[in-house]
Amino acid sequence: MQFYIMTLFPDMVMEGLNTSIIGRAVNNGLLGIEAWNIRDFAFNKHNSVDDYPYGGGAGMLMQAEPVYQCYRALEEQIIQKKKKKKSGGAVKKPRVIYLSPQGRTFNQEMAEEFAKEDDLVFLCGHYEGIDERVLEEIVTDYVSIGDYVLTGGELPAMIMVDCISRLVPGVLHNDVSAEFESFQDHLLEYPQYSRPEIWHEKQVPSVLLSGHHANIEKWRREQSIIRTAKNRPDLLEKAELSEKEQELARKSLQTEG
Ligand code: SAM
Repeated sequence: MQFYIMTLFPDMVMEGLNTSIIGRAVNNGLLGIEAWNIRDFAFNKHNSVDDYPYGGGAGMLMQAEPVYQCYRALEEQIIQKKKKKKSGGAVKKPRVIYLSPQGRTFNQEMAEEFAKEDDLVFLCGHYEGIDERVLEEIVTDYVSIGDYVLTGGELPAMIMVDCISRLVPGVLHNDVSAEFESFQDHLLEYPQYSRPEIWHEKQVPSVLLSGHHANIEKWRREQSIIRTAKNRPDLLEKAELSEKEQELARKSLQTEG
């Protein structure tokens, strides 16, 4: 899978994504990450890419043209690369995600959908955002990482790349570990423990030491339901629960607090 990040701060995103699991996946050729510097497409001698918003108001706005030229150069590279791989036929345009507090809130379901793409382009805004006209021309998806405002789209892009990358086969050493995690089946993950068996006088739940796999699975499922009911009851609306499990969720909700 190939990620392209259009940004004014390419070093920030490349340094942030160059470590640990994602960095290793890039080194192994499972992922490609390129940061494209929008400033390289500035069209004035001062290399500036921002200007005052029409109508007044606080702050500066990223201008349409540098963003557009950066995108066109990037799109051309993607198209040429795809044409080389595939003989004949139309080449599909990549999805272009504008990181914006005004977008749909990012979640695991969206990550799974984006992970099906071969190429993803991220557009990071800065200052007060980007001239609306270029967004209308190039953006396919508006995505927010939450109801708060940051200074730029770089951290949101890094969050999305990290989350989507974990779903690419081979990126996690053990592919199973991406399967049983929070938000799978609309439940949060059960509590986990590692050595030692007793720490600060707290004992690991005995069922986990029993070696009885069916009982362990049952305990984990119950713990997921209890935890979800307590921390994120909104998720339970979509979770598929048996009658017994619904009863457990109801009891956990009642004992909450
Ligand atoms: N004036 C814009 C508004 O009110 O919608 C906010 C601009 S913000 C200061 C600058 C940039 O940060 C945005 O263009 C966007 O790329 C990014 N950004 C800020 N908050 C974000 C969020 N919650 N999710 C995704 N991107 C965000």
